[in-house]
Amino acid sequence: MTDTFVIVGGDAAGMAAASKARREDSDLEIVVFEKGEWVSYGACGLPYYVKGEIQSLEALVSVTPEEFREERDIDLRTGHEVVAIDPDDRTVTAVRDGDEVVQSYDHLLLATGAESIVPPIDGVDLEGVYTLGSMSDGKELREYVARARDSEDLQQADRGPACRYLEDCTGPVGVVGGGYIGIEMAEALAANGFEVHLFQRSDRVLTGFSEATSEAVADHLRDREVVVHLGSEVRELADDGDGTVEAVVTAADRVPVEAALIGTGVRPRTGLAEDAGIELGPTGAIAADAYRETNVPDVYAAGDCAEATHVVTGESTYVPLALTANRHGRAVGQTVTGTPTEGGGVAGTAAVKAFDVEAARTGILDRDEAREAGFDPVSETITAKSRAGYYPDGGDVTVTLTADRDSGRVLGASLVSEYGEGAVHRSHAVVGALEASATVFELENYDLAYAPPFNTTWDPVLVAAKVLGGELR
Ligand code: FAD
Repeated sequence: MTDTFVIVGGDAAGMAAASKARREDSDLEIVVFEKGEWVSYGACGLPYYVKGEIQSLEALVSVTPEEFREERDIDLRTGHEVVAIDPDDRTVTAVRDGDEVVQSYDHLLLATGAESIVPPIDGVDLEGVYTLGSMSDGKELREYVARARDSEDLQQADRGPACRYLEDCTGPVGVVGGGYIGIEMAEALAANGFEVHLFQRSDRVLTGFSEATSEAVADHLRDREVVVHLGSEVRELADDGDGTVEAVVTAADRVPVEAALIGTGVRPRTGLAEDAGIELGPTGAIAADAYRETNVPDVYAAGDCAEATHVVTGESTYVPLALTANRHGRAVGQTVTGTPTEGGGVAGTAAVKAFDVEAARTGILDRDEAREAGFDPVSETITAKSRAGYYPDGGDVTVTLTADRDSGRVLGASLVSEYGEGAVHRSHAVVGALEASATVFELENYDLAYAPPFNTTWDPVLVAAKVLGGELR
């Protein structure tokens, strides 16, 4: 008899596991339960769909349900929500249109992802308040943008301070949260002519990046007429009396808006696992070993619902990003088909584009976090040219590099440049150093490529390593 591999969740982690398992074992029975209708979609593209750079939601789908069913022989059951797991009987119970289906498994993967965090404040349920966590959220927001742009009411000039500089200004719209989704959405909305107010609780945007990166991104947002409210915790979304949002209220301000987007982070979807006695780790996400197996034998967890191990600290961490979901899902697909495969650690590497600026971060930058992990962090920030001085175009790249004072070990980096000038791709050299537990002195000697259109002989990353190394010698 062949084994049955059951997967809960049909996006990055789930479908990577299903596809890999099928490639490795053509006889395995593979059943995927997905509560929605979309599978294998790129949520990362949603801000660009809302912006209008990507024309259809379908373009974000890498493999369609039909392809999974017909070409990969995967029993994909969309519209099925798994509501219970019985680890003793080795079954899951799914519900579709009120009907229950009980499915037995030999191996089970939880790939249930994450959900948007909505702050516990008044007004989050009002009409005109959006989140961006799913394909249907993206559809609603795009429809809102289209409606607002078409509405004559919203085309009046001079709707607020930023509108004085914009033609055909629409809005104003509030974006709550200065993380990567808030910033990508600020761009998407401003590019559509909205007057955008971005509210950030702390005193800088992109708090996981260096201060130099945060400042460069915030300055650029302001250059592009986004009104950036720092140190502004949103206390309430005010009701216009008819159930529609009319203002974002902070301790200091009451900013009139016609819509608000909440982008205050995500939390792992763990309810199903908890109910089945599957343990969560210190971060609140599902705990899993190097092979992504949970405390319950033959039950695995991968992607945004699960923790991972940080390559610098060796501790549990929660970094819900797409590559980890794909990689860990794929590893599970390989493990359950007979080749035990570790999913690998994460360095917390992330990138964001804000209009004409790009930024990346990797590793540990936060001083307290570094100290908690037993390091004595030292940082240097340098700014260097992105291309040879004599080569046309180019700009500056600012690199903040952090290392441990005693050992010289590289702990992390944050980089920012104009879009296309390589901050993001340059971060990969630092990721290599983190994965190898290399010192700044070793990073300084990395044999990086050089040619005038791409960098200076000493790439900005090497310059940062030299400067920081000089301080540590
Ligand atoms: P998900 O994609 O969340 O999929 C989980 C699936 O499980 C969902 O389809 C859900 O419907 C289903 N499900 C949940 N519970 C059940 C149940 N009980 N029964 C059946 N089905 C269930 N990452 C990056 O690396 N770079 C980016 O630039 C980036 N941009 C992003 C932009 C946006 C707007 C968003 C929302 C995310 C972005 N991400 C980005 C994050 C990335 O999309 C996620 O890391 C990735 O999708 C995680 O994949 P996953 O399979 O773990 O979870």
